[in-house]
Amino acid sequence: MNVATEFDYDVIVAGGGPAGATASTLLAQQGHKVLLIDRDQHPRFHIGESMLPMSEPVFKRLGVDWQKGQYQPKHGAEFIDEAEGLRIRFPLASQHQPYQVERAKFDHMMLENAASQGVDVHQMEVVKETQCDESGVFIRTDKTNYSARYLIDATGRSAMMGRRNQSIQRIDNLGKFSFYTHYRSVNADAANSLFETGDVKILIVDIGWIWIIPMSGRRLSVGLVVQKDIALSARKPMLFEKYLSESALLMAALQGAEREFDVKAEADFSFVNQSRHGLRYACCGDAAGFLDPVFSSGVFLAVKTAEAVADCLHIALLEGTEGNVDLHVAGDADYALGFNSMRMFVERFYHARLVHNLFSVSERSDALKEDILGLLGGDLWTGSNDFQKKLLNSRQAQQLGIAD
Ligand SMILES: Cc1cc2nc3c(=O)[nH]c(=O)nc-3n(C[C@H](O)[C@H](O)[C@H](O)COP(=O)(O)OP(=O)(O)OC[C@H]3O[C@@H](n4cnc5c(N)ncnc54)[C@H](O)[C@@H]3O)c2cc1C
Repeated sequence: MNVATEFDYDVIVAGGGPAGATASTLLAQQGHKVLLIDRDQHPRFHIGESMLPMSEPVFKRLGVDWQKGQYQPKHGAEFIDEAEGLRIRFPLASQHQPYQVERAKFDHMMLENAASQGVDVHQMEVVKETQCDESGVFIRTDKTNYSARYLIDATGRSAMMGRRNQSIQRIDNLGKFSFYTHYRSVNADAANSLFETGDVKILIVDIGWIWIIPMSGRRLSVGLVVQKDIALSARKPMLFEKYLSESALLMAALQGAEREFDVKAEADFSFVNQSRHGLRYACCGDAAGFLDPVFSSGVFLAVKTAEAVADCLHIALLEGTEGNVDLHVAGDADYALGFNSMRMFVERFYHARLVHNLFSVSERSDALKEDILGLLGGDLWTGSNDFQKKLLNSRQAQQLGIAD
């Protein structure tokens, strides 16, 4: 048992989304004294419902049983271009069953699980200032001050440390902003197949793409991600209405359905945090980097990066080496492999007519289809995915300075 003595805590985790809940639970399981601070009161709304199968091993370590939440099982991802009459489905047949989850419920479950495993969870408290130096970590919140041996930044796209260090670098050519809402009472016959397969549907449109995610209770999450440059004045919910009304599939499925809340918007898309870790701190989840959500990689990368940070920090806390500024350097290659693989896959989606060219070729090549399925499922660290290798060695990856 390793308990902070001169400090209030061994570790303070800022942010109680999937990344913060994961990192804090794994550290508390090892006997470290952990404080998690979230500015919201859970359950709180969060967008991002579609999960990847390879998240499940992390949930198992946490002791989270996502089947208990009665979420909608997800069996595949289908990419549809209604204008060109093209549909390609990728069945996610894996040993791990993924789900489409309602995030308010799911994130709350993860946070309660953290608390039940010894994490001190403070909600409705905002981390305002941080100081990480040789002597320790000192935090000021809107309520009080705390000290610790280490800080984990899991503040999502607020990216607390990245913005303070001015190390956030935007990725401009992927999705730029999004409009979305949820629908309930989705009872049209046309919607039946959505709930039967549980697939996430990606509809390709000229300015980006639309997601349709079936959720339990015959509800749908529907959102538009805009990749093309659109004048600020045109970034209005009307744009969302227009694109929805142009989709025959959506119009049929949504007949008689009710909107659960007014259309919401999210901007500040896709970025890299150039200083993901430093003296006595590390960032995980979106705070380390965020990618356009076309391949539903957000929560998966959040829990995987949190797991990596927690496992490395656990050893350092035992050895008393958490003040080593290079603590997480050894994890950089694995992080880059995961994040950059997804990044190059998304780049390909937007810039190489992926659905039209590559995906249709994959219909004829079993090996390629397997490789794409590996990426869509989050199986990123096998070393045997030829398509992934091609993405990471492409000319574009070289131009971006992220080639393998
Ligand atoms: C439009 C859109 C669609 C998406 N769709 C999907 C999808 O289908 N599937 C998927 O896997 N991902 C999706 N994502 C991404 C996914 O939502 C995120 O990747 C995921 O939530 C990241 O988890 P996190 O824990 O890093 O951050 P978050 O879940 O954002 O959690 C961060 C937490 O930090 C707290 N916080 C922030 N600042 C402070 C502070 N100063 N003090 C205290 N607390 C603070 C916040 O209250 C929040 O609870 C989508 C994202 C967007 C924008």
